[in-house]
Formats: sequence, C-alpha cells, structure tokens
Amino acid sequence: MINLLFPNLCHICHRPLVKGEKILCTRCKRDLPRTDFHLKENNPVEMRLFGKCDFIKCTSFCYYRKGDSFTKLIHQFKYNGFTEVGYGLAGIFARELMAHNWQNGIEAIVPVPLHPFKRFMRGYDQTKILANAIGKSWNIPVSNDIIRKTKYNTTQTKKSLIDRYENSKECYIINPKAKNIPKHILLVDDVFTSGSTIESCIHLFDHIPQMKISVLTIGFAE
Ligand SMILES: [Zn+2]
Repeated sequence: MINLLFPNLCHICHRPLVKGEKILCTRCKRDLPRTDFHLKENNPVEMRLFGKCDFIKCTSFCYYRKGDSFTKLIHQFKYNGFTEVGYGLAGIFARELMAHNWQNGIEAIVPVPLHPFKRFMRGYDQTKILANAIGKSWNIPVSNDIIRKTKYNTTQTKKSLIDRYENSKECYIINPKAKNIPKHILLVDDVFTSGSTIESCIHLFDHIPQMKISVLTIGFAE
C-alpha cells in the first residue's frame, strides 16, 4: 500500500522502479558514464599516482562531470542526506568488479576518513557508507579505524595543488592503536580529483614492509 502511494522512483529519471530495481531503473543504471578503468592497464587514476606513491591497482566507477546525472547523484549522496544512493552505487560497482575478480587478494577495505567535525556537521560519513557497501558485496571486512584524520582542513577547492598536498599531508595518521594491519588494503574515497588525499594516505604505510595498497573511488573528475 505504501508502495502504491509513494512508489520508489529512479533517482535519475524519476520513473517508478519495478521489482528488482533499486535506486536506479535498468536503463539509467545501464547508461551510467562508466570509466571501465578496471579493464585498462595504466588507467588515468594510476597515471595520476605514478611516481608519487606505490600501489597495486586503482579504479573509479564513473566519470564525475559537471551537470551530469551521475554527478547529481553524488551530490544527493554527499550533501543532501541520500545515503542509500551512495550505498547503492557502491554496491553496483562492487558487483561489476567482482565479475572480473578485481577484489582478489584484498584483505580489508579502508575508507578515507572525514574529520570528526565534518562528520558531525553532515551527520554521516560518506566514505564509510561506500566502504560498507563494497565490503558487504565482497564479504571482505571494513576497517574504519586504521587511518585517522587529525585536523580540520577547510574546503580544498580554492587552494593550489601544492597547498592541498601540504594541507592534507598533515591531516592523516595511522591510528596508534591499530594492530595487525592487513597486508593488502583497499582505500575507498568518493571522488578522485588530484589524488593528493589518496597519495597522503598511501604514504602513511611507507614504513610497513610488503604493504600493498589498492584504490577505489566512485567518481573520477577528469
Ligand atoms: Zn531511470
């Protein structure tokens, strides 16, 4: 009855969803601007990190382009409280990657942390939601407590690339209480832009021998 009065609608085209569809209708899901980076060696995410830090493999789900439907979905998720949108998109991506065994070897999923103040202001932690969706799809544990953010940095968009790097470099630490850090972790973030945040997080593990780090983001800003 509730479904008749308030049917679940596709978050892109707003048509009612049918049985088996979640968040998006079949057509909108099919038409997402996928990057298919997991099928490409030396893909653009990896190219942005080459020479800066060591990693095993990196991928992003979709292109994050101004005005695109996908970008609007990410905004709904990040700023308007639609946590189920992020969870749903991450789940779709995780299942598509699983068809290529992309997750093989990954021992834990680690969301890039938000500062507690930012999380408090927003009411939820979007990278944790993405990590949880991926962990559930792959049946791989999520480790929320390995990386900590130590100080609040204001919005990074108005700063130069160097400022951003310097700023975020100081912001992350490995939790001193973290024990038995898994040897291959997957860092999860929402949108990959310059890569400076991911780079800072990867460098945290430089001192650990044989540490392997892979990277996944939902959006990729060209
Ligand atoms: Zn649709």
